[in-house]
Amino acid sequence: MSPVSQLYGQTFTGLPPGSRKLALTFDDGPNDPWTPRLMEVLARLGVSATFFVIGSYVRRRPEIAKAVADAGHEIGNHTFSHPNLIFASPAAVQREISDCQLAIADAIGRQAQLFRPPFGGRRPDVLRAAAAAGLKTIMWRASSHDWSLPDAAAILGKLRKQIRGGEAILMHDGSHLGFGWDRSATIAAAGELVRRYRDQGYEFLTVGEMLRSSCADTSAGQTSLPR
Ligand SMILES: [Zn+2]
Repeated sequence: MSPVSQLYGQTFTGLPPGSRKLALTFDDGPNDPWTPRLMEVLARLGVSATFFVIGSYVRRRPEIAKAVADAGHEIGNHTFSHPNLIFASPAAVQREISDCQLAIADAIGRQAQLFRPPFGGRRPDVLRAAAAAGLKTIMWRASSHDWSLPDAAAILGKLRKQIRGGEAILMHDGSHLGFGWDRSATIAAAGELVRRYRDQGYEFLTVGEMLRSSCADTSAGQTSLPR
């Protein structure tokens, strides 16, 4: 379950350490009212991020997913009902991915290109199913642990210990445990993170922008490129 392990197939976790680029990723939305509030913070800062959405939540609030996409953020597939795919049958894995793709396409008018397995749970056939659906599997190299930490300062402290540059950063604008989950601490931490790292010369990209820059950058030889 290690997010950076390549044992079960190639996934993308970020650019080589030391890059001055970071990618904020938010899982388990759309989540009312926290996703719209996060979008306001990101808009004020002029930052685009990547949102790995749960298909059943997209069906519930498609207009939030559409607003996220229309604001220039990237939408990724995080399955339809957020099961741990390690314990799912191959048919269930395919259905979870394709049902989420349909929910996203119905909401935003186009297919997602990126996939993140719930809980980071993956097997070779999970990655193959994602690839067969035209999706690149994206993990992370820095985790906010925002599901267990009490406040924004703790989340920020946890991330600062892990950030060396180049990371895809795992945060949550929602929760698989329920709709309407309070993410005020995550939102405050995300805003503060952007301000602090920008002051140090870092740039915030979507995962798609990071992937394109890693393909264009010949120094990215150590990067685990998706297949
Ligand atoms: Zn999740």
